[in-house]
Amino acid sequence: MIDLRSDTVTKPTAGMRRAMAAAEVGDDVYGEDPTVNKLQERAAELLGLEAALFVPSGTMGNQIAVKVHTRPGDEVILEADSHIFNYEMGMMAAFSGVLARPIQTARGVLPLEAVAEAIRSAIYYLSRTGLVCIENTHNRKSGAIYPLEAARELLEFAHSKGLPVHLDGARIFNAAVALGLPARELARGLDSVMFCLSKGLGAPVGSLLLGSRAFIEEARRVRKMLGGGMRQAGVLAAAGLYALEHHIDCLAEDHENARLLAQGLAELGSVQLEPVETNIVIFNLKEMSAAEFAEQMKERGILVHAIGPQRIRLVTHLDVSREQIVKAVAAARELLGRD
Ligand SMILES: *Cc1c(COP(=O)(O)O)cnc(C)c1O
Repeated sequence: MIDLRSDTVTKPTAGMRRAMAAAEVGDDVYGEDPTVNKLQERAAELLGLEAALFVPSGTMGNQIAVKVHTRPGDEVILEADSHIFNYEMGMMAAFSGVLARPIQTARGVLPLEAVAEAIRSAIYYLSRTGLVCIENTHNRKSGAIYPLEAARELLEFAHSKGLPVHLDGARIFNAAVALGLPARELARGLDSVMFCLSKGLGAPVGSLLLGSRAFIEEARRVRKMLGGGMRQAGVLAAAGLYALEHHIDCLAEDHENARLLAQGLAELGSVQLEPVETNIVIFNLKEMSAAEFAEQMKERGILVHAIGPQRIRLVTHLDVSREQIVKAVAAARELLGRD
């Protein structure tokens, strides 16, 4: 099977498994796992933030950030198609007791005027705005990169209003590689950042939450509260360290494969393609339902993700080759090309 459903489906390579087997470990709830500590230091260094915390999932990382930055009753300004709002089980309400103020956008970039309008005035009988969240790259906007200039403007504006900004950077390294910039350039000035090791970087488990020392100290308490304190987690952290050392550069290949995939699909008349900037390809089918397309592709040995009635998402990653992309395009052509 050629699995294009998500970049979460990658399996650890032989080299990564060796690193995991050889990892030095200790009890991380006591702060004594040397490999976890090393991963956290390395991540903080790469992103240019003071401190980092290893968490089991991106969802937990994001929700810890929401909890630490806000108080119950606060409002959180975020993008309407964002992961935090759509795919995290309403946890911002369930756990932090905050209200989402979603803003609809074309490609995930929050316009300053819309943010300004969404911020509550400081009047005692109104709820308080507590946080702004952005997503880079944007999952549901076909891997769109948050333009550096727009991010800096937003950050400056939010800070001028006394609001912290959290980045859901599940795929921040995809953005960095596509822009040819170090990830720290994209993280500069942010109050917190979450990124995933388990997506395109190819690790089996884990994400990192980053911020100031004080923020991470509080985040560690909240992680424990959620049952996310892990013990000999060094075996997992070793996979993460291996991924940061060996797999960041591979993302460029994923982007090249996504472009190739998009080029092939663009030639099919019945496909309406969204812009492709990184490793995610999203399109609408004009004449077939997404469920039918997914079923037919599966019969041809290719797994895709139906994300709407007519909408399909394909994601390139470490475990798909250029040759397999060519096969996937051929299968789509066979299915859609004969109208
Ligand atoms: C995958 C993802 C997450 C976190 O996912 P987990 O499955 O909880 O690790 C968060 N944000 C975005 C944009 C994602 O794509």
